[in-house]
Amino acid sequence: MTVVGHLINGEMRSDAVRTQPVYNPSTGEESKQVALASVATVEEAIAAAEQAFPAWRNTPPAKRAQVMYRFKALLEEHADKICQLIGEEHGKIAHDAAGELQRGIENVEYACGAPELLKGEHSRNVGPGIDSWSEFQPLGVVAGITPFNFPAMVPLWMYPMAIVCGNTFVLKPSERDPSSTMFIAQLLQEAGLPNGVINVVNGDKEAVDVLLTDSRIKAVSFVGSTPIAEYIYSTANANGKRCQALGGAKNHAIVMPDADMDNAVNQLLGAAFGSSGERCMALSVAVAVGDAAADALVSKMRIAMESLKVGAYSNPDNDFGPVITQAHQLKVNGYIDSAEADGAKVVVDGRNPSVEGFDGGFFVGATLIDAVTADMQSYKEEIFGPVLQVVRVNTMEEAMQLINDHEYGNGTCIFTRDGEAARYFSDNIQVGMVGINVPLPVPVSYHSFGGWKRSLFGDLHAYGPDAVRFYTKRKTITQRWPSSGVREGVSFSFPS
Ligand code: NAD
Repeated sequence: MTVVGHLINGEMRSDAVRTQPVYNPSTGEESKQVALASVATVEEAIAAAEQAFPAWRNTPPAKRAQVMYRFKALLEEHADKICQLIGEEHGKIAHDAAGELQRGIENVEYACGAPELLKGEHSRNVGPGIDSWSEFQPLGVVAGITPFNFPAMVPLWMYPMAIVCGNTFVLKPSERDPSSTMFIAQLLQEAGLPNGVINVVNGDKEAVDVLLTDSRIKAVSFVGSTPIAEYIYSTANANGKRCQALGGAKNHAIVMPDADMDNAVNQLLGAAFGSSGERCMALSVAVAVGDAAADALVSKMRIAMESLKVGAYSNPDNDFGPVITQAHQLKVNGYIDSAEADGAKVVVDGRNPSVEGFDGGFFVGATLIDAVTADMQSYKEEIFGPVLQVVRVNTMEEAMQLINDHEYGNGTCIFTRDGEAARYFSDNIQVGMVGINVPLPVPVSYHSFGGWKRSLFGDLHAYGPDAVRFYTKRKTITQRWPSSGVREGVSFSFPS
């Protein structure tokens, strides 16, 4: 059976002392094994990155960007294979995998602007004959730790920008669907990156803990669930590292009484059930303002959901595929059970759908739950499955309070025709990414991505302009060249 190994110093390697199965979630079958790196293997990757750093740091940004141009071309050339690998191990339908890859490529395009992004700031004559400038210097070896749900896109949020800024990189991807991530890193190598600039180690907590404690790692970017994000952030900080750790979410959409209800239903279908709800920006709660809006929403959703198709990744007619593992399938079903036990009403029940020819697949059908309240466990926690919960409130203020009181603050959206209400909402809601009649307000690559509250630990958001700041340190230089023969006297105070 194929064992997915590691990419260290430009070579594929495997220390298959410990391995773990990789499944095809559409069939439930084990398809590969993934090597789980030992401490020594991770240390070797860090050493390779450290060795590659001095030359890469001194490579002109325009030359670094040229590698990214070639990388983008290779990603486009091999898009079908990448989507196939994502489908096999994640379960995403090809059209969804293609969307993920496209968002990743947009981050590579942004990184191609490195010479412009790294220009720095310059001030002439800050004093007589004195010039001052700030430049952004790379940190050294930096690390990324990524989740299963976007095996192509999330790593591409991180290393293209880290690398064009002059750093070298060690990536620890999700061990659940490692093949597309590894294939993409090999394409970057093929694009002409010197050995050791990008290294990929597969593994689990043992590998992660090396990245968090080894003094050669200067910064850590993490994307994953909130409990792990919190652990990563505190451990990296305790070890003197810069860290940004993006966590989980519970994204609410407010449906106002004046909303175009048919449009809101269409938008909610894609945003709640697309990718089986395994997106950190999935809309998992619809907050309907007033019973009339709630009744209309629930009845239209129920009818629209009848035509949704859950099934294997390999059939492009399916709307969404399986969830990632059997354990996760049971967890999602458990949340539906608990909502029901707590008194909510399961309007459309996706527990144990039948998918012909794929009996062993980890499928959960689209599920709609009405009359959910804020005290229910299924409301408080992230379900990360194709489940839309409806909470009924009487006013927009009540809806906003609900969102602001939730521990997560990744994304949110309002469906309305009222510009004043939308403006008030975007101004006051305690959430990092806000949509107005836009269900998945994922920032484009030239903005930055990040939630508030317990959806992000750290200060700077991922990719875009914040990435330049995260992956560099500022140095400010003040310069004077006294004319020959001119000497100044001693001064003991600042010039006034
Ligand atoms: P996860 O937290 O289980 O795993 C993420 C990474 O952390 C993986 O590489 C994993 O190997 C590693 N890891 C897991 N347990 C660890 C431990 N005890 N110690 C050290 N490292 C550990 O997340 P997941 O299930 O792969 O991904 C889904 C989660 O990611 C969801 O909560 C989702 O909301 C979140 N997510 C957030 C964003 C965002 O931008 N905020 C984006 C995508 C996914």
